[in-house]
Amino acid sequence: MPDNNRTIDDIVSLAKRRGFVFPSSEIYGGFAGVYDYGPYGTELAHNLKSAWWRQMVGERSDIVGLNSAIFMNPKVWQSSGHTAGFSDPLVECKRCHARERADHLLESISVFADEKMSEEEIGRLFESHKKDIVCGTCGESDFTGVKLFNLLVSSNLGNFTGEKKDDVYLRGETAQGIYVNFKNVSDTMHMKLPFGIAQIGKAFRNEITPRQYILRTREFEQMEMQYFTSPETDMDEFEKLKEYRFNALLSLGLKKENLRWKKHDNLVFYAKEAFDIEYNYPSFGWKELEGIHARGDYDLSVHQNGSGADLSYFDEESGKRFIPHVVESSIGVGRLFLAILSDAYVEEEVRGEKRIVLKLDKRLAPVRIAILPLSKKEELIRGAMGVYKKLKSAHMCAYDDTQSIGKRYRRQDEIGTPYCITYDFDSINDFAVTVRERDSMAQERVKIDELEEYFREKFVP
Ligand SMILES: [Zn+2]
Repeated sequence: MPDNNRTIDDIVSLAKRRGFVFPSSEIYGGFAGVYDYGPYGTELAHNLKSAWWRQMVGERSDIVGLNSAIFMNPKVWQSSGHTAGFSDPLVECKRCHARERADHLLESISVFADEKMSEEEIGRLFESHKKDIVCGTCGESDFTGVKLFNLLVSSNLGNFTGEKKDDVYLRGETAQGIYVNFKNVSDTMHMKLPFGIAQIGKAFRNEITPRQYILRTREFEQMEMQYFTSPETDMDEFEKLKEYRFNALLSLGLKKENLRWKKHDNLVFYAKEAFDIEYNYPSFGWKELEGIHARGDYDLSVHQNGSGADLSYFDEESGKRFIPHVVESSIGVGRLFLAILSDAYVEEEVRGEKRIVLKLDKRLAPVRIAILPLSKKEELIRGAMGVYKKLKSAHMCAYDDTQSIGKRYRRQDEIGTPYCITYDFDSINDFAVTVRERDSMAQERVKIDELEEYFREKFVP
């Protein structure tokens, strides 16, 4: 890339150093496939979720929100097909016992397995290429046969006997909570097709090899919207949703050249069409960021059959009764978070020195305004605190008097803070402060009285 050759190590290092992302339980040596979001990461993720919610619910009269529980009746996962078919192909190195995904190993020698292959099919494919594949851990080429491994994470919720019962799972996706509430939502909200239900929430998958940082984790957060349509209009709605979601990602500041469409070559039997929006991640390359799928009437049909409840919809205009079709959009908060950080990360030279700056969209920045007294003189601290108190209820602000002003600017640049305010000795007499803009580093003098209006204009939603 011409202007931005950041690596994933640059991003991971900044995210750790500046309090965006920490390894889970780090003082105990971490915990595979799980990450914690630090103070600034929490703010950034919160802003991303708020932006998604505004785009998908706030600005759409045809979409409502939902917050369904992580735990569900185990029958949900039987009906949806997850207990039988939600699995990854596992192989084990006979020498060092490292477990790997067979499809990933095949991919490393440019053989592409279809995710819908049966255990036998992918087993045969792996067998025929086994001699060319080496273990990523020990370098040996000696593997067990392929076994499909179910990704659902189970729990002992409500089971006090110690005996084996039906597994109660932590949800593997948020979408099922939407399907099983279709009737409740359409009845209570008097929704007419087409309409959508949106949800943000945690999901859990027993990934065999969680890696690639926060791209593939065992605990993650999804933002999903299921849109219910008549059988005749689902593909039109699918096209509209594709365009809407692509533009929504661009509006967050993601660069167009780092986004592309990928059509699924092979569809699950019920799917009508499936596209991913891929992002060109540093070091990892093109990976799925968001999925947009036309799922036919599969989801409500299987839950109607499994539960016995009537999930059909009566269309008054046409006088027809049918099972609604579904088009969905699904994006992981972590994947979006990493894409946003990657596009924002810039290293540049300023007066012979390297400056790292996160050029985040102003509205997404974890801190909008940092208030910095020039030094630790009492009268400067008092004045700067006054400015902080004036602005903090309208904007996420930070107050910092710890180091030299140069170091504090660099710290705020790395967090992506769009504006720094410096309260200096002149401020005491002229009742004005210096406002420095992050990207241009241009400074201007603004009257303290006018700061609220000044920033109201800068942060028009
Ligand atoms: Zn090995």
